[in-house]
Amino acid sequence: MSERPRLTVLSGPSGVGKSTVVAHMRKEHPDVWLSVSATTRKPRPGEQHGVHYFFVTDEEMDKLIANGELLEWAEFAGNRYGTPRAAVLERLEKGEPVLLEIDLQGARQVRESMTDARLVFLAPPSWEELVRRLTGRGTESPEVIERRLEAARTELAAEPEFDVTLVNTSVEDVARELLALMDVV
Ligand code: ADP
Ligand code: 5GP
Repeated sequence: MSERPRLTVLSGPSGVGKSTVVAHMRKEHPDVWLSVSATTRKPRPGEQHGVHYFFVTDEEMDKLIANGELLEWAEFAGNRYGTPRAAVLERLEKGEPVLLEIDLQGARQVRESMTDARLVFLAPPSWEELVRRLTGRGTESPEVIERRLEAARTELAAEPEFDVTLVNTSVEDVARELLALMDVV
């Protein structure tokens, strides 16, 4: 590889399929490193501490923020989420491709602090399909779905801020396009 790999940020409305695409990518290419975020959200069934997220208390999150241990953080639909800084910088120093899957507010912060990051927006084929996916996942209550859809309107409007937009019609196609953007073949 001729130059230091860029940090890739994958963002897009809740339910668009970010986790599904990333899981597909990593099944084929386990060498792609995905940052594990800290969150105050409660685990969904099957989610493991240290694998999907570091599940932390409000007090623990306060400390991570106060100690400057997060590269970025944001409040999303009633919970806080943040990217542990040290692990990301370590991987980038080693020249390894790094992927962050974070919300719009986080993507904006990364754009400010890591100017060579590539920001990728994952868009749904339509608003109706986004509602179908978010509802169909069956992991959130109707109120939480409502909050997430409200956030989704803001996120969709911010699409032009991103370097690249990928429409998630086919998980396989999007995963391939993302790998190509990250120079992983
Ligand atoms: P996000 O991580 O963006 O919140 P998920 O990956 O959890 O979204 O996906 C939300 C739902 O949409 C899941 O039930 C998933 O199986 C489904 N899904 C993801 N991508 C597609 C796709 N390309 N076509 C149809 N359904 C999809
Ligand atoms: P979920 O609760 O569905 O796992 O995630 C909700 C939203 O938070 C998603 O848009 C996801 O990308 C985002 N998110 C996950 N981790 C982080 C993080 O570390 N920072 C920020 N800013 N957003 C995150």
